[in-house]
Amino acid sequence: MVRIMIQRARYARSLRLAAAGVLAFALGSGGARSVLAQDGSYDVVITNGRVMDPESGLDGVRNVGISGGKIRAISAGALKGKQTIDAKGLVVAPGFIDLHQHGQDEENYQAKAHDGVTTALELEVGVADVDQWYGGREGKALINFGASAGHIPARMAVMHDPGQLLPSGDAAHREATPEEMQQIMALLDQGLRRGALAVGVGPAYTEAATNWEIVQVFRVAAKYHASCHIHIRAGAPKVGEPAGNFPGFEEAMAAAATSGAPLHIVHIQSTGGPNVAYELQMISEARSRGMDVTSEAYPYTMGMTSIQAAFLDHKENEPDSYFAPMLWPATGEHLTRESFLRYRKQGGMIILPSNTQENIDAAIESPLTMIASDGALFNGKGHPRTAGTYARVLGHYVREEKTLDLMTALKKMTLMPAQRLEKRAPAFKDKGRIRVGADADITVFNANTVIDKATYEKPLQYAEGIRFVLVHGVSVVKDGQLVDGVFPGHGVRAPLVQ
Ligand SMILES: [Zn+2]
Repeated sequence: MVRIMIQRARYARSLRLAAAGVLAFALGSGGARSVLAQDGSYDVVITNGRVMDPESGLDGVRNVGISGGKIRAISAGALKGKQTIDAKGLVVAPGFIDLHQHGQDEENYQAKAHDGVTTALELEVGVADVDQWYGGREGKALINFGASAGHIPARMAVMHDPGQLLPSGDAAHREATPEEMQQIMALLDQGLRRGALAVGVGPAYTEAATNWEIVQVFRVAAKYHASCHIHIRAGAPKVGEPAGNFPGFEEAMAAAATSGAPLHIVHIQSTGGPNVAYELQMISEARSRGMDVTSEAYPYTMGMTSIQAAFLDHKENEPDSYFAPMLWPATGEHLTRESFLRYRKQGGMIILPSNTQENIDAAIESPLTMIASDGALFNGKGHPRTAGTYARVLGHYVREEKTLDLMTALKKMTLMPAQRLEKRAPAFKDKGRIRVGADADITVFNANTVIDKATYEKPLQYAEGIRFVLVHGVSVVKDGQLVDGVFPGHGVRAPLVQ
Protein backbone atom coordinates (compact mmCIF):
# COMPACT_ATOMS: atom_id res chain seq x y z
CA MET A 1 0.00 0.00 0.00
CA VAL A 2 2.64 2.40 1.06
CA ARG A 3 4.59 1.37 -1.98
CA ILE A 4 1.71 2.09 -4.35
CA MET A 5 1.29 5.54 -2.86
CA ILE A 6 4.96 6.32 -3.36
CA GLN A 7 4.76 5.13 -6.91
CA ARG A 8 1.72 7.32 -7.48
CA ALA A 9 3.43 10.27 -5.92
CA ARG A 10 6.44 9.70 -8.13
CA TYR A 11 4.27 9.41 -11.20
CA ALA A 12 2.48 12.65 -10.34
CA ARG A 13 5.80 14.37 -9.78
CA SER A 14 7.21 13.15 -13.07
CA LEU A 15 4.12 14.50 -14.85
CA ARG A 16 4.62 17.87 -13.21
CA LEU A 17 8.26 17.91 -14.23
CA ALA A 18 7.49 16.93 -17.79
CA ALA A 19 4.92 19.72 -17.90
CA ALA A 20 7.54 22.16 -16.70
CA GLY A 21 9.78 21.08 -19.55
CA VAL A 22 12.38 19.48 -17.31
CA LEU A 23 13.63 16.47 -19.18
CA ALA A 24 16.87 14.55 -18.92
CA PHE A 25 18.27 13.68 -15.52
CA ALA A 26 17.14 16.67 -13.52
CA LEU A 27 16.32 16.58 -9.80
CA GLY A 28 18.04 13.69 -8.15
CA SER A 29 16.83 13.27 -4.59
CA GLY A 30 13.68 14.62 -3.03
CA GLY A 31 15.84 17.33 -1.44
CA ALA A 32 15.99 19.12 -4.75
CA ARG A 33 12.43 20.40 -4.47
CA SER A 34 13.02 22.13 -1.18
CA VAL A 35 15.70 24.35 -2.72
CA LEU A 36 13.51 25.43 -5.63
CA ALA A 37 11.50 28.61 -5.27
CA GLN A 38 7.68 28.39 -5.17
CA ASP A 39 7.49 29.11 -8.88
CA GLY A 40 9.94 26.29 -9.65
CA SER A 41 12.87 28.53 -10.54
CA TYR A 42 16.52 27.95 -9.66
CA ASP A 43 18.85 30.49 -8.06
CA VAL A 44 20.96 30.51 -11.21
CA VAL A 45 20.58 28.87 -14.61
CA ILE A 46 23.48 28.63 -17.06
CA THR A 47 21.78 28.40 -20.43
CA ASN A 48 22.79 26.80 -23.74
CA GLY A 49 26.43 26.12 -22.92
CA ARG A 50 28.47 23.18 -24.16
CA VAL A 51 28.50 21.21 -20.92
CA MET A 52 31.59 19.02 -20.56
CA ASP A 53 31.97 16.55 -17.70
CA PRO A 54 35.07 14.32 -17.68
CA GLU A 55 33.49 11.80 -15.30
CA SER A 56 30.33 10.93 -17.28
CA GLY A 57 31.76 11.92 -20.67
CA LEU A 58 28.82 14.28 -21.24
CA ASP A 59 29.66 16.74 -24.02
CA GLY A 60 26.54 18.48 -25.28
CA VAL A 61 24.46 21.63 -25.15
CA ARG A 62 22.54 21.72 -21.85
CA ASN A 63 21.04 24.06 -19.31
CA VAL A 64 22.39 23.83 -15.77
CA GLY A 65 20.16 24.69 -12.80
CA ILE A 66 21.83 25.73 -9.54
CA SER A 67 20.26 26.29 -6.13
CA GLY A 68 21.72 26.41 -2.64
CA GLY A 69 25.26 26.22 -3.99
CA LYS A 70 24.70 22.84 -5.68
CA ILE A 71 24.00 21.70 -9.22
CA ARG A 72 20.31 20.62 -9.18
CA ALA A 73 19.54 19.99 -12.84
CA ILE A 74 21.32 19.34 -16.13
CA SER A 75 18.71 19.48 -18.82
CA ALA A 76 18.20 19.73 -22.56
CA GLY A 77 14.87 21.41 -21.76
CA ALA A 78 14.42 24.98 -20.60
CA LEU A 79 15.00 25.81 -16.93
CA LYS A 80 13.77 28.89 -15.11
CA GLY A 81 16.27 30.90 -13.05
CA LYS A 82 16.13 34.00 -10.87
CA GLN A 83 19.46 34.77 -12.48
CA THR A 84 20.51 33.61 -15.96
CA ILE A 85 23.98 33.24 -17.44
CA ASP A 86 23.99 33.01 -21.22
CA ALA A 87 26.69 30.46 -22.14
CA LYS A 88 25.85 30.11 -25.84
CA GLY A 89 29.06 29.27 -27.70
CA LEU A 90 30.95 28.73 -24.41
CA VAL A 91 32.20 25.62 -22.61
CA VAL A 92 30.67 24.91 -19.19
CA ALA A 93 33.22 22.87 -17.21
CA PRO A 94 33.79 21.91 -13.58
CA GLY A 95 35.83 24.62 -11.81
CA PHE A 96 39.55 23.89 -11.91
CA ILE A 97 41.19 22.44 -8.79
CA ASP A 98 44.79 23.58 -8.31
CA LEU A 99 46.66 21.15 -6.04
CA HIS A 100 49.70 23.42 -5.87
CA GLN A 101 49.11 27.10 -5.09
CA HIS A 102 51.33 28.78 -2.52
CA GLY A 103 49.87 32.29 -2.70
CA GLN A 104 46.76 32.17 -0.53
CA ASP A 105 45.52 35.75 -0.26
CA GLU A 106 43.23 38.11 -2.11
CA GLU A 107 45.56 39.08 -4.96
CA ASN A 108 46.37 35.43 -5.62
CA TYR A 109 42.73 34.28 -5.43
CA GLN A 110 41.75 36.99 -7.93
CA ALA A 111 44.42 35.85 -10.39
CA LYS A 112 43.35 32.22 -9.92
CA ALA A 113 39.65 33.00 -10.49
CA HIS A 114 40.54 34.73 -13.78
CA ASP A 115 42.35 31.52 -14.77
CA GLY A 116 39.24 29.41 -14.01
CA VAL A 117 40.40 28.02 -10.65
CA THR A 118 37.64 27.55 -8.05
CA THR A 119 39.72 25.62 -5.47
CA ALA A 120 43.37 26.50 -4.72
CA LEU A 121 45.32 24.22 -2.40
CA GLU A 122 48.70 24.65 -0.69
CA LEU A 123 49.77 21.00 -0.59
CA GLU A 124 53.50 20.99 -1.41
CA VAL A 125 54.88 23.19 1.36
CA GLY A 126 51.77 23.02 3.53
CA VAL A 127 51.36 24.61 6.94
CA ALA A 128 52.42 23.95 10.53
CA ASP A 129 49.23 25.16 12.27
CA VAL A 130 46.21 23.86 10.35
CA ASP A 131 43.45 25.46 12.48
CA GLN A 132 45.09 28.87 12.44
CA TRP A 133 45.61 28.71 8.67
CA TYR A 134 42.01 27.78 7.85
CA GLY A 135 40.63 30.16 10.49
CA GLY A 136 42.45 33.09 8.92
CA ARG A 137 40.64 32.61 5.59
CA GLU A 138 37.13 31.39 6.39
CA GLY A 139 34.48 33.86 5.25
CA LYS A 140 37.03 36.06 3.48
CA ALA A 141 37.96 34.00 0.43
CA LEU A 142 36.93 34.47 -3.19
CA ILE A 143 37.55 30.80 -4.02
CA ASN A 144 37.84 27.54 -2.06
CA PHE A 145 41.08 26.85 -0.24
CA GLY A 146 42.87 24.11 1.66
CA ALA A 147 46.27 22.98 2.88
CA SER A 148 48.39 20.01 3.83
CA ALA A 149 50.26 19.45 7.07
CA GLY A 150 53.75 20.46 5.95
CA HIS A 151 56.97 18.74 6.86
CA ILE A 152 58.95 21.83 5.81
CA PRO A 153 57.10 24.30 8.10
CA ALA A 154 56.96 21.71 10.91
CA ARG A 155 60.74 21.31 10.69
CA MET A 156 61.15 25.10 10.57
CA ALA A 157 58.98 25.54 13.68
CA VAL A 158 60.72 22.83 15.70
CA MET A 159 64.25 23.83 14.63
CA HIS A 160 63.57 27.61 14.91
CA ASP A 161 64.52 28.36 11.32
CA PRO A 162 64.56 32.09 10.41
CA GLY A 163 63.34 31.54 6.80
CA GLN A 164 60.02 32.84 5.46
CA LEU A 165 58.15 30.36 3.24
CA LEU A 166 61.18 28.07 2.95
CA PRO A 167 64.03 27.31 5.35
CA SER A 168 67.35 29.13 5.24
CA GLY A 169 68.88 27.96 8.54
CA ASP A 170 68.89 24.77 10.60
CA ALA A 171 65.74 23.32 9.01
CA ALA A 172 67.61 23.19 5.71
CA HIS A 173 71.10 22.39 6.90
CA ARG A 174 71.09 20.31 10.10
CA GLU A 175 70.04 16.76 10.89
CA ALA A 176 67.21 16.62 13.41
CA THR A 177 67.95 15.15 16.85
CA PRO A 178 65.72 12.23 17.92
CA GLU A 179 63.73 14.66 20.13
CA GLU A 180 63.27 17.14 17.27
CA MET A 181 62.24 14.33 14.95
CA GLN A 182 59.57 13.27 17.45
CA GLN A 183 58.26 16.83 17.71
CA ILE A 184 58.15 17.23 13.92
CA MET A 185 56.15 14.00 13.52
CA ALA A 186 53.81 15.04 16.37
CA LEU A 187 53.09 18.33 14.56
CA LEU A 188 52.26 16.48 11.34
CA ASP A 189 50.04 14.05 13.26
CA GLN A 190 48.21 16.94 14.90
CA GLY A 191 47.71 18.70 11.54
CA LEU A 192 46.20 15.56 10.03
CA ARG A 193 43.83 15.17 13.00
CA ARG A 194 42.70 18.74 12.36
CA GLY A 195 41.73 17.90 8.80
CA ALA A 196 44.80 18.74 6.72
CA LEU A 197 44.13 17.41 3.21
CA ALA A 198 47.53 15.76 2.71
CA VAL A 199 51.15 15.90 3.83
CA GLY A 200 53.62 18.27 2.17
CA VAL A 201 57.24 17.12 1.85
CA GLY A 202 60.22 18.87 0.26
CA PRO A 203 63.58 17.23 0.88
CA ALA A 204 65.02 19.55 -1.79
CA TYR A 205 64.49 22.34 0.75
CA THR A 206 65.32 20.31 3.87
CA GLU A 207 68.49 18.85 2.46
CA ALA A 208 69.82 17.68 5.84
CA ALA A 209 66.71 15.62 6.56
CA THR A 210 67.88 12.01 6.29
CA ASN A 211 66.22 9.39 4.11
CA TRP A 212 65.03 7.86 7.38
CA GLU A 213 63.31 11.10 8.43
CA ILE A 214 61.45 11.15 5.11
CA VAL A 215 60.28 7.57 5.70
CA GLN A 216 58.93 8.65 9.13
CA VAL A 217 56.97 11.45 7.45
CA PHE A 218 55.39 8.97 5.03
CA ARG A 219 54.50 6.68 7.95
CA VAL A 220 52.55 9.45 9.68
CA ALA A 221 50.73 10.18 6.40
CA ALA A 222 49.93 6.50 5.87
CA LYS A 223 48.23 6.33 9.27
CA TYR A 224 45.63 8.82 7.96
CA HIS A 225 45.54 7.65 4.32
CA ALA A 226 46.92 11.07 3.39
CA SER A 227 48.85 11.53 0.14
CA CYS A 228 52.41 12.86 0.36
CA HIS A 229 52.96 15.76 -2.08
CA ILE A 230 56.70 15.80 -2.54
CA HIS A 231 59.23 18.12 -4.16
CA ILE A 232 61.88 15.45 -4.62
CA ARG A 233 65.42 15.83 -3.36
CA ALA A 234 68.00 17.32 -5.69
CA GLY A 235 70.41 14.44 -6.14
CA ALA A 236 74.06 15.18 -6.74
CA PRO A 237 74.73 14.36 -10.39
CA LYS A 238 76.94 11.33 -10.80
CA VAL A 239 80.02 11.56 -12.98
CA GLY A 240 79.16 10.89 -16.59
CA GLU A 241 75.40 11.26 -16.07
CA PRO A 242 73.25 14.31 -16.84
CA ALA A 243 72.07 16.31 -13.82
CA GLY A 244 68.80 14.81 -12.70
CA ASN A 245 66.92 13.99 -9.55
CA PHE A 246 66.61 10.27 -10.04
CA PRO A 247 67.80 9.34 -6.52
CA GLY A 248 65.26 11.80 -5.08
CA PHE A 249 62.52 10.21 -7.19
CA GLU A 250 63.51 6.75 -6.00
CA GLU A 251 63.58 7.92 -2.38
CA ALA A 252 59.94 9.04 -2.71
CA MET A 253 58.86 5.83 -4.44
CA ALA A 254 60.56 3.68 -1.81
CA ALA A 255 59.05 5.64 1.10
CA ALA A 256 55.58 5.27 -0.44
CA ALA A 257 56.01 1.58 -1.24
CA THR A 258 57.19 0.66 2.26
CA SER A 259 54.81 2.92 4.23
CA GLY A 260 51.71 2.49 2.07
CA ALA A 261 51.12 6.25 1.90
CA PRO A 262 49.72 7.48 -1.42
CA LEU A 263 52.35 9.48 -3.32
CA HIS A 264 52.01 12.60 -5.45
CA ILE A 265 55.17 13.88 -7.18
CA VAL A 266 54.81 17.62 -7.68
CA HIS A 267 55.89 19.54 -10.82
CA ILE A 268 57.53 16.52 -12.46
CA GLN A 269 58.23 18.66 -15.55
CA SER A 270 60.88 20.59 -13.62
CA THR A 271 62.29 18.28 -10.96
CA GLY A 272 62.27 15.32 -13.34
CA GLY A 273 65.03 17.06 -15.28
CA PRO A 274 66.26 14.93 -18.16
CA ASN A 275 64.48 11.93 -16.61
CA VAL A 276 60.89 13.17 -17.01
CA ALA A 277 59.93 10.45 -19.48
CA TYR A 278 61.59 7.69 -17.43
CA GLU A 279 59.93 8.85 -14.24
CA LEU A 280 56.50 9.02 -15.90
CA GLN A 281 57.05 5.50 -17.20
CA MET A 282 57.98 4.29 -13.71
CA ILE A 283 54.86 5.93 -12.25
CA SER A 284 52.78 4.14 -14.85
CA GLU A 285 54.44 0.81 -14.04
CA ALA A 286 54.04 1.33 -10.28
CA ARG A 287 50.35 2.11 -10.81
CA SER A 288 49.89 -1.06 -12.83
CA ARG A 289 51.21 -2.95 -9.80
CA GLY A 290 48.65 -1.31 -7.57
CA MET A 291 50.69 1.53 -6.08
CA ASP A 292 48.81 4.79 -5.62
CA VAL A 293 51.20 7.25 -7.32
CA THR A 294 50.21 10.39 -9.23
CA SER A 295 51.94 13.50 -10.54
CA GLU A 296 51.40 17.03 -11.82
CA ALA A 297 52.98 19.58 -14.16
CA TYR A 298 52.79 23.25 -15.15
CA PRO A 299 53.40 24.55 -18.68
CA TYR A 300 56.51 26.74 -18.36
CA THR A 301 60.19 26.11 -19.03
CA MET A 302 61.25 28.36 -16.13
CA GLY A 303 60.67 27.69 -12.44
CA MET A 304 60.62 29.95 -9.40
CA THR A 305 61.94 29.40 -5.92
CA SER A 306 63.66 31.05 -2.97
CA ILE A 307 67.17 32.25 -3.83
CA GLN A 308 68.19 30.87 -0.42
CA ALA A 309 66.97 27.34 -1.25
CA ALA A 310 69.39 24.65 -0.10
CA PHE A 311 69.89 23.31 -3.63
CA LEU A 312 71.40 26.68 -4.60
CA ASP A 313 74.14 26.33 -1.99
CA HIS A 314 77.79 26.22 -3.12
CA LYS A 315 77.42 28.20 -6.37
CA GLU A 316 80.19 30.74 -5.54
CA ASN A 317 82.52 29.41 -8.19
CA GLU A 318 80.07 29.15 -11.09
CA PRO A 319 80.80 31.49 -14.04
CA ASP A 320 78.52 34.43 -14.94
CA SER A 321 77.08 32.36 -17.79
CA TYR A 322 75.61 29.96 -15.20
CA PHE A 323 73.61 32.82 -13.65
CA ALA A 324 72.70 34.73 -16.84
CA PRO A 325 69.43 32.83 -17.55
CA MET A 326 68.23 33.52 -13.98
CA LEU A 327 65.76 36.35 -13.47
CA TRP A 328 65.23 38.50 -10.37
CA PRO A 329 61.49 39.20 -10.70
CA ALA A 330 61.53 42.14 -8.30
CA THR A 331 63.46 44.21 -10.91
CA GLY A 332 63.27 42.01 -14.02
CA GLU A 333 67.09 41.90 -14.30
CA HIS A 334 69.14 38.87 -15.34
CA LEU A 335 71.75 37.80 -12.80
CA THR A 336 75.53 37.64 -12.66
CA ARG A 337 77.58 35.82 -10.03
CA GLU A 338 77.99 39.09 -8.15
CA SER A 339 74.26 39.97 -8.13
CA PHE A 340 73.26 36.35 -7.35
CA LEU A 341 75.47 36.31 -4.25
CA ARG A 342 74.28 39.79 -3.21
CA TYR A 343 70.57 38.90 -3.56
CA ARG A 344 71.15 35.57 -1.83
CA LYS A 345 72.17 37.43 1.34
CA GLN A 346 69.05 39.59 1.03
CA GLY A 347 66.63 36.72 0.25
CA GLY A 348 63.66 36.65 -2.14
CA MET A 349 62.24 34.76 -5.08
CA ILE A 350 64.23 33.90 -8.19
CA ILE A 351 63.11 32.66 -11.62
CA LEU A 352 65.41 30.06 -13.18
CA PRO A 353 65.47 27.63 -16.10
CA SER A 354 63.97 24.28 -15.13
CA ASN A 355 63.80 22.09 -18.23
CA THR A 356 63.67 21.89 -22.01
CA GLN A 357 60.48 22.64 -23.94
CA GLU A 358 60.45 19.03 -25.11
CA ASN A 359 60.39 17.70 -21.54
CA ILE A 360 57.76 20.23 -20.47
CA ASP A 361 55.54 19.20 -23.39
CA ALA A 362 55.97 15.50 -22.57
CA ALA A 363 54.87 16.12 -18.99
CA ILE A 364 51.87 18.30 -19.88
CA GLU A 365 50.65 15.92 -22.58
CA SER A 366 51.06 12.73 -20.53
CA PRO A 367 47.72 11.22 -19.47
CA LEU A 368 49.31 10.61 -16.04
CA THR A 369 49.76 14.23 -14.99
CA MET A 370 47.33 16.67 -13.49
CA ILE A 371 47.71 20.38 -14.17
CA ALA A 372 48.83 22.33 -11.09
CA SER A 373 50.35 25.81 -11.09
CA ASP A 374 52.86 26.15 -8.20
CA GLY A 375 51.66 29.76 -8.18
CA ALA A 376 52.53 32.64 -5.89
CA LEU A 377 52.30 36.40 -6.37
CA PHE A 378 53.73 38.97 -3.98
CA ASN A 379 52.38 42.47 -4.70
CA GLY A 380 52.12 41.70 -8.38
CA LYS A 381 55.59 40.13 -8.60
CA GLY A 382 56.22 36.46 -9.22
CA HIS A 383 55.92 33.79 -11.89
CA PRO A 384 53.39 33.90 -14.76
CA ARG A 385 52.24 30.36 -13.87
CA THR A 386 50.14 31.87 -11.06
CA ALA A 387 47.75 33.65 -13.42
CA GLY A 388 48.28 31.74 -16.65
CA THR A 389 48.71 28.00 -16.15
CA TYR A 390 45.19 26.78 -17.00
CA ALA A 391 44.47 29.22 -19.84
CA ARG A 392 47.88 28.36 -21.29
CA VAL A 393 47.09 24.64 -21.39
CA LEU A 394 43.65 25.27 -22.92
CA GLY A 395 44.86 27.91 -25.40
CA HIS A 396 48.31 26.68 -26.34
CA TYR A 397 48.23 22.87 -25.98
CA VAL A 398 44.56 22.21 -26.80
CA ARG A 399 43.73 24.87 -29.41
CA GLU A 400 47.02 25.92 -31.01
CA GLU A 401 49.18 22.78 -30.83
CA LYS A 402 46.31 20.26 -30.69
CA THR A 403 48.47 17.94 -28.62
CA LEU A 404 45.74 17.52 -25.98
CA ASP A 405 42.02 17.11 -26.61
CA LEU A 406 39.76 19.41 -24.64
CA MET A 407 38.08 16.72 -22.52
CA THR A 408 41.43 15.21 -21.50
CA ALA A 409 42.79 18.65 -20.58
CA LEU A 410 39.70 19.34 -18.47
CA LYS A 411 40.02 15.97 -16.77
CA LYS A 412 43.60 16.87 -15.75
CA MET A 413 42.29 20.13 -14.21
CA THR A 414 39.14 18.87 -12.48
CA LEU A 415 38.31 15.17 -12.04
CA MET A 416 41.86 13.89 -11.50
CA PRO A 417 42.76 16.33 -8.71
CA ALA A 418 39.37 15.68 -7.05
CA GLN A 419 39.98 11.93 -7.19
CA ARG A 420 43.51 12.41 -5.78
CA LEU A 421 42.01 13.80 -2.55
CA GLU A 422 38.53 12.30 -2.25
CA LYS A 423 39.46 9.11 -0.39
CA ARG A 424 40.87 11.17 2.46
CA ALA A 425 38.57 14.18 2.05
CA PRO A 426 35.13 13.07 0.80
CA ALA A 427 34.18 16.72 0.14
CA PHE A 428 36.06 16.28 -3.14
CA LYS A 429 33.53 13.69 -4.33
CA ASP A 430 31.29 16.68 -5.02
CA LYS A 431 33.94 18.71 -6.81
CA GLY A 432 35.54 18.41 -10.23
CA ARG A 433 32.27 17.22 -11.81
CA ILE A 434 29.22 18.66 -13.55
CA ARG A 435 26.76 16.29 -11.91
CA VAL A 436 23.41 16.71 -10.16
CA GLY A 437 24.25 17.03 -6.46
CA ALA A 438 27.81 18.27 -7.04
CA ASP A 439 29.02 21.64 -5.73
CA ALA A 440 28.26 24.44 -8.18
CA ASP A 441 31.95 25.30 -8.70
CA ILE A 442 31.84 25.99 -12.43
CA THR A 443 34.09 27.62 -15.04
CA VAL A 444 32.59 28.93 -18.28
CA PHE A 445 35.10 29.82 -21.00
CA ASN A 446 35.48 30.52 -24.68
CA ALA A 447 37.51 27.63 -26.14
CA ASN A 448 38.23 29.74 -29.27
CA THR A 449 39.91 32.61 -27.42
CA VAL A 450 41.10 31.35 -24.03
CA ILE A 451 44.81 32.16 -23.55
CA ASP A 452 47.32 33.16 -20.90
CA LYS A 453 48.55 36.77 -20.82
CA ALA A 454 50.95 36.67 -17.86
CA THR A 455 54.64 36.90 -18.76
CA TYR A 456 57.90 36.65 -16.81
CA GLU A 457 58.12 40.45 -16.98
CA LYS A 458 54.40 41.07 -16.23
CA PRO A 459 53.12 38.09 -14.23
CA LEU A 460 49.91 39.73 -13.00
CA GLN A 461 48.23 40.05 -16.41
CA TYR A 462 45.03 38.03 -16.11
CA ALA A 463 44.18 35.21 -18.51
CA GLU A 464 41.67 35.93 -21.27
CA GLY A 465 38.62 33.96 -22.35
CA ILE A 466 37.48 32.81 -18.90
CA ARG A 467 34.01 34.39 -19.02
CA PHE A 468 32.15 33.24 -15.89
CA VAL A 469 33.37 31.52 -12.74
CA LEU A 470 31.02 30.33 -10.00
CA VAL A 471 32.03 29.17 -6.53
CA HIS A 472 29.21 27.40 -4.65
CA GLY A 473 26.79 28.95 -7.15
CA VAL A 474 28.02 32.52 -6.57
CA SER A 475 29.59 34.37 -9.50
CA VAL A 476 33.14 35.50 -8.77
CA VAL A 477 33.90 36.31 -12.43
CA LYS A 478 31.11 37.70 -14.62
CA ASP A 479 31.56 38.61 -18.29
CA GLY A 480 35.31 38.26 -17.78
CA GLN A 481 35.39 40.72 -14.85
CA LEU A 482 35.91 40.07 -11.13
CA VAL A 483 32.82 40.53 -8.97
CA ASP A 484 33.50 42.79 -5.97
CA GLY A 485 32.62 42.02 -2.37
CA VAL A 486 31.74 38.31 -2.61
CA PHE A 487 33.47 35.65 -0.53
CA PRO A 488 31.87 32.30 -1.38
CA GLY A 489 35.10 30.28 -0.92
CA HIS A 490 35.04 27.56 1.75
CA GLY A 491 37.94 25.88 3.49
CA VAL A 492 38.00 22.27 2.35
CA ARG A 493 39.22 19.79 4.99
CA ALA A 494 39.39 16.11 5.66
CA PRO A 495 37.18 14.84 8.49
CA LEU A 496 38.51 15.78 11.94
CA VAL A 497 39.83 13.03 14.22
CA GLN A 498 39.44 13.28 18.03
ZN1 LIG B 1 58.29 22.82 -5.51
